[in-house]
Amino acid sequence: MIERALGPALLWCGTAPDAGRHWTLPAKRHVGIGALAALRICTLGSGSSGNATFVATGEARVLFDAGFSCRQIQLRLAAIGEDYTTLDAVVISHEHSDHVQGLEVLARKTGVRVLVSQPTSEKLTWKKAAPALEIFEAGREFEIGDLAIETFTVSHDAVDPVGFCVRQGGRKLSIATDLGYMTDSVRYHLLDSDLIVLESNHDLEMLKSGPYPWDLKQRVLSRAGHLSNAAVAEFLSQHWDRHARTVVLAHLSTNNNHPAIAEMDACGAIDSVRANDTRVVVASQADPTPVFEL
Ligand SMILES: [Zn+2]
Ligand SMILES: [Zn+2]
Repeated sequence: MIERALGPALLWCGTAPDAGRHWTLPAKRHVGIGALAALRICTLGSGSSGNATFVATGEARVLFDAGFSCRQIQLRLAAIGEDYTTLDAVVISHEHSDHVQGLEVLARKTGVRVLVSQPTSEKLTWKKAAPALEIFEAGREFEIGDLAIETFTVSHDAVDPVGFCVRQGGRKLSIATDLGYMTDSVRYHLLDSDLIVLESNHDLEMLKSGPYPWDLKQRVLSRAGHLSNAAVAEFLSQHWDRHARTVVLAHLSTNNNHPAIAEMDACGAIDSVRANDTRVVVASQADPTPVFEL
């Protein structure tokens, strides 16, 4: 059960210039003629047990991945003031269960559009009848309402895994989880983002000395595995354009990471490039992040 809408703390690197400027509680907004409706984003939860991120404008409501049960998706959306029956589409990054386990029931109950790449669609299994699927091609862009959604290939042990860039009204957010390493293409797609949801899966030392069997450690560490805190820090300190005002660290390992360590590593990197206006938020498995408005 979700009892709190706002679980994780907001974490500022350096001095917070204006806490509260970039996010608000999910109050209803009245948008006047000519005004630009907020681009809202909330990671409903993230980790190896489930992932889903909600993105909305005045015209479109889209869920990226459906890795929680339909009931959990319903509850987590309700916790931020959203009705799951009003979703316009669900877009799937890859076939792993922590990204699709609620998809079948959600699609059956709501009739929501489901968008997925052809190779990934062939890996999905259904207990009852498969929902109608709309196929996208990795690397291509499509639109849902007023959202332009660009997909990009990531390196991960799935058949056709993708990350996402979402643009609307000159604003951009990017989602990149489940990737073994940062390719040039991933770095390129994260440029110019106002908000980045980025995997920070494990602390290298915790993983190496932790309880996982050797072969699983090798899988996580491989270039088709998951991104480490160190890789995130390297990206932020050496390759990031310092544009984003919010970096959401996602898909943290329960066994091989700790939110404080992931935060410390990311903040250290952000401080090293003096990006004092950027705050770090650690997404949790249990609770949605705040609702960010761009
Ligand atoms: Zn995952
Ligand atoms: Zn995965």
